[in-house]
Amino acid sequence: MSTTPAVICLDLGGSFVKLGVMDAQQQLTILDQQKIPADSWPDFTALVSRMIQQHQHFSTDSPLAISTAGIVAPDSGEMFASNIPAFHQRNLSQALGELLQRKVIVHNDADCFTFAEAQAGVGKGHKVVFGAILGSGVGGGLVADGRIITGQNGLTGEWGHGPITLTEVDIEGETIRLPRQPCPCGQKGCLDSYGGARGLENLHRTLYDVNASSLDIIAGWQQQEVQANRTIQVWLQLVSQPLAYTINITGASLVAVGGGLASVTALMEALNEEVQRYVLRSTQHPLVVPGVFAHNGGMIGAALLARQVA
Ligand SMILES: [Zn+2]
Repeated sequence: MSTTPAVICLDLGGSFVKLGVMDAQQQLTILDQQKIPADSWPDFTALVSRMIQQHQHFSTDSPLAISTAGIVAPDSGEMFASNIPAFHQRNLSQALGELLQRKVIVHNDADCFTFAEAQAGVGKGHKVVFGAILGSGVGGGLVADGRIITGQNGLTGEWGHGPITLTEVDIEGETIRLPRQPCPCGQKGCLDSYGGARGLENLHRTLYDVNASSLDIIAGWQQQEVQANRTIQVWLQLVSQPLAYTINITGASLVAVGGGLASVTALMEALNEEVQRYVLRSTQHPLVVPGVFAHNGGMIGAALLARQVA
């Protein structure tokens, strides 16, 4: 009888490299976390080799599953990760595979999170699951019939970019006008400007010329402070309409939310309520639900993907 080898997992973000292992029972154990040498390929590969060698004597059959910030080109495997120059424009799976002498798979972290939720989380049993990341920025992924839809250039599900934000929002009879702000992606009016935690802070600053952290704005909303409350009401409209539109287009019957804002239960309930108003067909069950893999969902998804292709 053959045994299922453990899957070695890495999470690569702008700040850290995280190492974990998923056992045959699909349990993930975190083994290590180090600051990422984001600017140097030799330093990056040396760190990854060392982390894997130090922590466990992995079988040579154990694949390495990587969840990473950035986009993986579906045809060439080349990375687009401008905030991590160490492997920007490199074929990470091929290069690390040769270096470490094991099978390496690499996927975008939002795609991995969505896959984890669709396979084993809040999206289990749903044919089409959209993963909406509301972290420091806005990201997303799409899983249909148990497969990640990477699409053209690996960009499927990127609902945070494009000229999509409203410029007028009506709150209790008052019309609030908002500028479509320029985004680092080169467009103007991206949801990313107002949608994630940094976006929420930017929205508050745009409305009131006040600097406040997303946590403070959310706490103020929960205490019914006037300014914070209005910021959240505007935020709910800005975010819910593109999300409802995304649901209409993809046919998702469940949106799993990841990222820091997913942990604010009341905000997610309010977002679900707004989205249900705007979708073509509202559902009895909540459509917008915080994911169960908000922590380490990327690694879990990457490991499940490695098992699927093994
Ligand atoms: Zn943008």
